[in-house]
Amino acid sequence: MPCTWLDLTLCLALAVTAAGAAAAGPGEVKMERLHGAAWRFGGVLGERIKANAERWLLVAPKNNPGLLDMFANRDKGPKPNLVPWAGEFVGKYLISGVQAMRMSDDPRLRATLDGVVSRLLELQAEDGYLGPWPKAERLLGHWDLWGHYHVIEALLLWHEQTGEAKALAAARRIADLICSTYLDTKRRVFDAGSHEMNMSVIHGLALLYEKTKEPRYLRMAEEIVKDFERAGDYLRTGLAGVEFFRTPRPRWESLHAVQGLAELYLITGDERFRRAFLHHWASIRRCDLRNTGGFSSGEQATGNPYADTPIETCCVVAWQAVMIDALRLTGDPTIADDIELATFNAIAGAQHPSGEWCTYDTPMNGRRVPSHVAINFQARPDAPHLNCCSVNGPRGLGALSEWAVMKWCAASPDAANVRGTGTSRPQPNGLAVNFYGRMEVKTALPNGTAVTIRQESDYPLLDATKLTIEPSEPQHFGLFLRIPAWSAKTEVALNGKAVLGAKPGAYLELAREWKSGDTITLRFDMSIRHEPGDLEQHGKASFYRGPILLAHDEQMARGEGKFRPWMLLEAPIPGGQPLKLCDFASAGANGGPYRSWLPATGLRPPPPVPLLPADGARVPPGPIRFAFRKPAAAALADRKHYLRIYDSPSAERVVLGLGDNPKPPIVVRAHEAKLLKPNVPYYWQIISGTAHGDSESLPPHKHFIIDPTLPPAPDLPAAQYGERPDDAAIIIASLCGDPKPDWGHLKDAKGWKPAPGPDGEPNGAIELDGQAGRVTYGIVEFPDRDFTVALWLCVTALPKTQYGQVFSAWCKGMDDPLRLVVHQGKLHARIEAGQFFGTDGWPVELGKWVHVAAVKEGAKLTLYINGQARSAAKVPESVVSSAEDFALGGNPHFGGPEFLACRLADLRFHARALSPAEVREAARRGAPK
Ligand SMILES: [Zn+2]
Repeated sequence: MPCTWLDLTLCLALAVTAAGAAAAGPGEVKMERLHGAAWRFGGVLGERIKANAERWLLVAPKNNPGLLDMFANRDKGPKPNLVPWAGEFVGKYLISGVQAMRMSDDPRLRATLDGVVSRLLELQAEDGYLGPWPKAERLLGHWDLWGHYHVIEALLLWHEQTGEAKALAAARRIADLICSTYLDTKRRVFDAGSHEMNMSVIHGLALLYEKTKEPRYLRMAEEIVKDFERAGDYLRTGLAGVEFFRTPRPRWESLHAVQGLAELYLITGDERFRRAFLHHWASIRRCDLRNTGGFSSGEQATGNPYADTPIETCCVVAWQAVMIDALRLTGDPTIADDIELATFNAIAGAQHPSGEWCTYDTPMNGRRVPSHVAINFQARPDAPHLNCCSVNGPRGLGALSEWAVMKWCAASPDAANVRGTGTSRPQPNGLAVNFYGRMEVKTALPNGTAVTIRQESDYPLLDATKLTIEPSEPQHFGLFLRIPAWSAKTEVALNGKAVLGAKPGAYLELAREWKSGDTITLRFDMSIRHEPGDLEQHGKASFYRGPILLAHDEQMARGEGKFRPWMLLEAPIPGGQPLKLCDFASAGANGGPYRSWLPATGLRPPPPVPLLPADGARVPPGPIRFAFRKPAAAALADRKHYLRIYDSPSAERVVLGLGDNPKPPIVVRAHEAKLLKPNVPYYWQIISGTAHGDSESLPPHKHFIIDPTLPPAPDLPAAQYGERPDDAAIIIASLCGDPKPDWGHLKDAKGWKPAPGPDGEPNGAIELDGQAGRVTYGIVEFPDRDFTVALWLCVTALPKTQYGQVFSAWCKGMDDPLRLVVHQGKLHARIEAGQFFGTDGWPVELGKWVHVAAVKEGAKLTLYINGQARSAAKVPESVVSSAEDFALGGNPHFGGPEFLACRLADLRFHARALSPAEVREAARRGAPK
């Protein structure tokens, strides 16, 4: 049975009762998907939806019997030969399958999915287990909870679509097994490992709780929130305004765990969940959104959307799901703009036009490769086409049935717009139209009246669309039309008469009595526009026509190849010749290379990205330091940055504006900060300008509050890394019998004692014991481009474990911007940044003092011993690390023992590359006599 509006309201009301008295009440949705609606799509996406059904959904199960056989075989014979996430494949396949059923009445589709669901349910074990692993391992490891999360979601959707009670019952039995394994037992979900994956089951439990009101499912979800603190820490980092890419687990799977926070807000009304969820959404939008509307950089967030790193299809699907939740919670139409961008470009680009395959990686510049080729390690003889992306990609199109038109649940933002017959304002009874293009949806208004909305349109190939509204009887309701932020001027007409008031980036509300046959026409501004690049794409621009990203594909431009583009046009390139460009979705469809970042000159800057103070931060009285993403080195010469501080999130009134800086930070001095009131939120924005124009940082704007109870901040140096102005020193510590630095901040020191220095004088060094000895210094930020770490080192015993750290800034997996590490008797300088980089090793002589320096200058890391360059390695030019400290004698955060027994003296850490002569000079100082 499709869930009705009344059911949902009742569900939320009941949810509060079940959740106990602590919660203030159920959370508010501004917009909700249309449950039980029937959808049809035409136009370019309609063709893709049809191809997906014909060439994937209808054939994948019979071509890949392993999809279900893996469950049948779990306890037969040898250990299953599967990837750890194999249990997700059937759930992901079914989620997109049910979505496709909403968009089609093809009986073959229903029959195919029915066959898969029926056999899947038969394969559920007595205890509720529905994964592919042997009995002794049920739910305890692999990505087994993650797999069950997808199965729970699939069964809930199937139940909603078909009314089959046994699907819901099977989902409940899974959740019951999860509870009997992990709730009020000695085990925690944390113990299952693979945390960002397995903890995502929180989202499935929350959805199932909403459906069933079973209190245990909510309690289990709340227990997982506690486990978050030992893994991804999504709630606390979200409340603290930590950028998502700097959280402990910024991989894409975490996005589904973060969705759990949105659902917990709706269940409990606890504002903390809403704030944390929306913070992570906004952080990815600000810091990691690709020009295709996609997300991820090597399967995770990195804070840099310009690198030519892979954009995985699963990550885009997860990002789209987060955006749909953010739209539900905020009703912000610019989120629907972002979803539209992702759908027409990243999603449609991930699917081959044949419908037979989708990519693993849909790069901004590069080629399209089928996922069953690119990640064929996931394939098995009985499942040649199955991998994480092949089963997940179709969900990107299926999601149209969740955002194209939505139920409007919020009270009207502008009561004056209400015209009509009623004397009192009606309850929210409206629909939001987010999607434009050929389509039809049959649904019911919140009050139960049947209504059909039809669009005749060649959008986005042409610039206009015509909507026909057909209520079953004349009805008063609000229709909210998304006016895209990119459409500078949008013409709207109702039954042929012009309607004024369409504003870019806002909904246009038409509240009236609607009669069958009423029409609305919209004409958008589809002039070609461009977005400039930064970092790796500096000096290049992306071009758009409406929501369509344009790309250059030489084969498409020449009209060669079997697959034809949606559009092919000649675009003017600033500073270059006009170029034939096609839509990004079709680019690469014939196998050739393509580019969506194109060389251009005379560009305005890209939108700057505000970083610190963290959103919502309480800052002490005194000077305030504003940091933002550092532009490409080549941009520093002609780019300027300005700060604007506002007294409201709508950014209407500037209360303070200053700056003229080529790079971060901008510091508001103490006397200027006195113009701001304490205990009041202020919102801030960075504006970036070149001779060719300005760009502003994107909303939502971050805010800060001056807290007069905090000790006043010292007058800060105007430096990004807190470095000393004269010599760019970050930490200077002589270590003469004491770890206290002459410049910088000591966080912690243990397991050390004074020791003779390199020259033999007493108290010339410190000695670390190699057991627990570790000295930790705090830093503002690790230098992303150039730096030098130099010190005197005398190793007194080789580490008994794999690594002994002289210096390490490790803060999480694959994030250590510098380590000087003793490994197999040799000293190496290394960087961990998504992958390993490092110099050759220098043999360690026990008991002998050597002067060691690691110098990073752009893309080169050099290891100096006693003032001589001994080895160099190629490393990334820019390494953005989350490190906020580093340690001597051990790893500052990693739990495993990486201690080193050694003596150390004269530590110098600078935010610049010292010259060879300067390193030689440092090695002369304090040298052994
Ligand atoms: Zn994938």
